[in-house]
Amino acid sequence: MSRIFDAHVHLSEDSRDELIPYAKVNGLEYNLEELLRLMRENGITGGLLLSPPIKGGAPLPNERILDLCGRSGGLLSPILTVEHSSSSVVDAVDLARRNKEAVKGFKIRLGYLKVFADDPAYDRLYDYAESEDLPVMFHTGDTASQDGSLEHSHPLTLDRLANERAGLKLVACHFGNPWIADVGELIYKHPNFYADISGLVVSGSKYETGYLESVAEQVTRAIYFAGGAEKVIFGTDYPVSTPALALALLDKLRIDADDKPKILWRNAAKVFRV
Ligand SMILES: [Zn+2]
Repeated sequence: MSRIFDAHVHLSEDSRDELIPYAKVNGLEYNLEELLRLMRENGITGGLLLSPPIKGGAPLPNERILDLCGRSGGLLSPILTVEHSSSSVVDAVDLARRNKEAVKGFKIRLGYLKVFADDPAYDRLYDYAESEDLPVMFHTGDTASQDGSLEHSHPLTLDRLANERAGLKLVACHFGNPWIADVGELIYKHPNFYADISGLVVSGSKYETGYLESVAEQVTRAIYFAGGAEKVIFGTDYPVSTPALALALLDKLRIDADDKPKILWRNAAKVFRV
């Protein structure tokens, strides 16, 4: 049995959390106690905690994420979410500086924010991330809200940034779903480009089984295209997906047995230094 690291987890313990409907569909209580129990039960030995959106559209403040990680007994490490303003960039860099041991990277919510990844507002953040070898995660693909901007969340928009900043580690969340083949090209093309497979499987659809097969087939093809699984990182996107569903997806990938531990933890350990 391989070690498992979950590189994409949300939690707020706030009643205004916009992910609560997803938790309900998955039959989850969506609290710290349940998350830690599910991690234990599924052999997940660590995870990265990201802000969920709260009502009104803003993400949960990063201080709350640091708090929840502090209460996790060392199981969760914070990723700081950075919005599109110079004050958000300054605050996030400052918070990362003051919590150097804990903070493992940053996240930008493309599509929820109508902004492209190479917007100059983020220059200072990328300078810091690059100098500290901290990855920047980007929401890519479908947005959980109906008014998200797919033009901005399309993974190919990250190509410009990856060309400009070859030294910056980029992670496309959700493998750009539904533009999975495009992310296959990005991880193939750019040495510092990675993708997580979080949030790809959600329960409750009539075609749940067929959809799982279809997504697994697309991710498998992207791995074949990239020529290996060195750039692919496991994540659940709890509470959007459960550890059981996310592990079922991994199980369906038609790849060599020795590629699975890379996806489950080795790649994350290298990229996030966890
Ligand atoms: Zn997420």
